[in-house]
Amino acid sequence: MGSSPEGGCSCGAVRYRLASDPLFVHCCHCLNCQRQTGSAFVVNLLIETDRVEVVAGEPRPVEVPRDDGSMQRIFRCPDCHVAVYSEYTRPEFRFVRAGTLDDPSWVRPDVHIFTRSKVPWVTLPESVPAFDVYYDTNELWPAESLERARAALG
Ligand SMILES: [Zn+2]
Ligand SMILES: [Zn+2]
Repeated sequence: MGSSPEGGCSCGAVRYRLASDPLFVHCCHCLNCQRQTGSAFVVNLLIETDRVEVVAGEPRPVEVPRDDGSMQRIFRCPDCHVAVYSEYTRPEFRFVRAGTLDDPSWVRPDVHIFTRSKVPWVTLPESVPAFDVYYDTNELWPAESLERARAALG
């Protein structure tokens, strides 16, 4: 990655900066993500909420129901409504949408999840772990990320 990568919405009202590397990068093939993005999958950078520095605008949280009955908060630009990041169960972490980075080219998925609903024309690389549903964080995340996550949770 570059140092302190930046990103934002389409109209430019919302801008953010990532204060460090992500903890982990998900490529999610679940049907919720397909529906939300109108695409085949989403690439999310998992990172501590306090490491997503909003430098312009105020992303507005929108409650969105998921297929499992839970709610997800998607933070959108109040003007152009582009989604920049999500919050799932824990407010200490953000799932930043990789495509909103000014330069998303350095982002590589660390894991593919919910491949049970992966579209058949997407071929996954052998070198990246893939799971039908989800995975065990303790087994996959680097020690440094686990340590950071523990610190974030207090
Ligand atoms: Zn905008
Ligand atoms: Zn998903």
